[in-house]
Amino acid sequence: MAKQSSTDGEAQLSKIVDLSVLTQSTGDKPDLHRHLMKSYVEALEGEIDNIQQAFSWKNAEQISEYTHKLKSSSRSLGAMTMANICQQLETAATAADWGELEDLMPQLYSDSAQTAEFFRNFMSPAGGPGGEVVSGQELALELPADDNITQFRLSIMLVDDDYIMHRVTTVMLNDLGISSVLNAMSGSAALDMLQQNGERIEVIICDLNMPEMDGVELIRHLATSGFGGSLILTSGEDVRILKTVEKLAIEHELHVLGVMEKPVTPAKLSELLDSLDQIRQEGTLMMNDPFNLADLEQAITCNQLDTFFQPKIDIKSGEVVGVEALVRWNHPVMGLIKPNAFITMAEDHGLIGGLTDVVCNKALDFAARLKAMGYHLNIAINISVDSLTNLEWPDRISSLLAESGLEPSSISFEITESRLMEHLSVALDILSRLSLKQFNLSIDDFGTGYSSMEQLQRIPFAEFKIDRAFVHGAARETSARAILESSVLLAKKLDMKVVAEGVEDQEDWDLVAEVGCDQVQGYFVSRPLPFRQLVKWLEDRKA
Ligand code: C2E
Ligand code: CA
Ligand code: CA
Repeated sequence: MAKQSSTDGEAQLSKIVDLSVLTQSTGDKPDLHRHLMKSYVEALEGEIDNIQQAFSWKNAEQISEYTHKLKSSSRSLGAMTMANICQQLETAATAADWGELEDLMPQLYSDSAQTAEFFRNFMSPAGGPGGEVVSGQELALELPADDNITQFRLSIMLVDDDYIMHRVTTVMLNDLGISSVLNAMSGSAALDMLQQNGERIEVIICDLNMPEMDGVELIRHLATSGFGGSLILTSGEDVRILKTVEKLAIEHELHVLGVMEKPVTPAKLSELLDSLDQIRQEGTLMMNDPFNLADLEQAITCNQLDTFFQPKIDIKSGEVVGVEALVRWNHPVMGLIKPNAFITMAEDHGLIGGLTDVVCNKALDFAARLKAMGYHLNIAINISVDSLTNLEWPDRISSLLAESGLEPSSISFEITESRLMEHLSVALDILSRLSLKQFNLSIDDFGTGYSSMEQLQRIPFAEFKIDRAFVHGAARETSARAILESSVLLAKKLDMKVVAEGVEDQEDWDLVAEVGCDQVQGYFVSRPLPFRQLVKWLEDRKA
C-alpha cells in the first residue's frame, strides 16, 4: 500500500517537472542543472510577486509580459505545470479576461509552490545525484569548450532578459565548440557591448520579447549602427510573428541566419550555425567596415570584381539549363563582398554601367569556355533598368557576343527596376532592341515592390522570376503560397517561362513543381559557385 502511494507520488512529481528536458538540451551535467534550478527557485518568488502586483493593479499588459517570461524559463527547465499555467494566464491577460485571470491566479500560487518544492528536494543532497550546488561564477569558469570538438572562431552575443535561457543556450553553444559567448540581459546592454566589441561579434541571438527595448527595436538600432554580422531571432511567440520580424530585419538589410521557436534546442542551433559556416565558405558575409566610392571605382577598373554562377534546373527533366552570373567584389582586405552591399552605391554614383560591362565581359568569357567544354547553358546577367542610359549598349553587347562565338538566344538579361526610372524612353528603347536581337529578357524579383504588373505590359519579357520571399517556406505560409500560385497563373496566361528562386529544401521543390514552375534555382540545387567549382559541379553531376 505504502509502495503504491509512493509510486503515485513519483508520477505526480514527474508531471510537475520533466527532467529529461534539461538533459536533452545541455547533456548530463548535474552541477549545471542544480545551478539552473537554484537560480530559478531564487527568482521565482519575486516573479510571482510581480504577477500578483500587476494583477491587483489590473495591468493586463504587465501580466502578459511577466507570465510570458516565466513560461519561457519554466520550459527551458522542463517545469511543465508552471509553463502551462503561465501560458493560460498569458492568453487570458492578452484577452483582458479578468474573470479567467481571477480563476487562474490561485493555481499559479499552488503550482509555483509545488515546483519550487520539487526543485528544492531534487537539489538537496538526498534528492538527486549528490553534490553541492555551485555558484554562477564558479560555473562560468567551469565551462570551457570541449577540446575534442572543432573550435569555431566565432563570437556570439545572446540577448535575452531570461537568465536561465542565457545559461542553457551558452552551454549548448559551448558544446558546439563555440567558447566566446557574450551575454546581454537587455537591448541597451547589447548595444553597449556592440560598441565595445563590435567587430568581434559575428552572430547575435536575439529574443523578441524583452521589457524596455524589445527585439524589434533592437533590430532597428542594429540596422542604423550598420551591424554587419548575422542575426538569429528567437521567441516563445507564434512562429508567424518571428517570420514577420525576420522579414523586417531583411528589409533593414541585416543578414538573418534564421528563426528559432523556443525552447531552443542544440539541433536547431547547430543547423543555423552550420548554414553560417556554408555562407562563410561561399565568402559572402557582409562586413562591418564600410568602403567608400573611390574603393568601389577602383574595384571596377582594377579587376577586383568576380562573377559566381548559380545553376538553374529544368524541373521536369532535372537537367541543368542555365546559370545566373552574380557579381562578387574580391576586396583586398575585406575578402569577398556581397552585391547587396555595393550595387546601390554603384547605381547612385553612375558606376553601374561600368560594373555591368565588367560582369558581361566575364560572363561571356566563361560562357564561351563552357561551350568549348560541351556545356550549352543559358547565361543570365543582372541589369538594373536605370543603368540602361546608353543607346549604343545593345550594339556593344552584340559585338562582344560575336567575338565570343555565342548566340544571343543563349543570353538572358534579368531586369530589376531599383527605383523610379528617370529615362524611361531610353530604357524601353534599349530593351526593345535587345529583344529584337533575340536576347531573352527576364523580369527579376517578381512580386516585390520593384517589379510590377506595369512593367509586364511595357517590356517584352520572355521569363518570369518569382522572388524567393514567395518560394522558400511558402508551403507553410498561406499568403506567400497564394502569391506564388497567382504569379504562375499570370505568367502562363502571358505565355512566359517561370523560374522559382530560393528553393532551399525538398518541400519548396515539391511545391514549385506542383504549382507549375518550369525552372528552379536555389540552395537546394546549389549555392552560387566560382567558375572552377561550377565546372567541377557540372562534371560531378554528369558522372
Ligand atoms: P537576385 O538577382 O535575386 O539573385 C539571387 C540572389 O539570391 C543571389 O544573391 C543568390 O545568392 C541568392 N540565392 C540564391 N538561391 C538562394 C536560396 O535558395 N536562398 C536564399 N536565401 N538566397 C538564395 P546575391 O548573389 O547576393 O545577389 C543579390 C542581388 O544582387 C541579386 O539578386 C541581384 O539583384 C544583385 N546583383 C547580383 N549581381 C549583379 C550584377 O552583376 N549587376 C546588377 N545590377 N545586380 C546584381
Ligand atoms: Ca537575378
Ligand atoms: Ca531575384
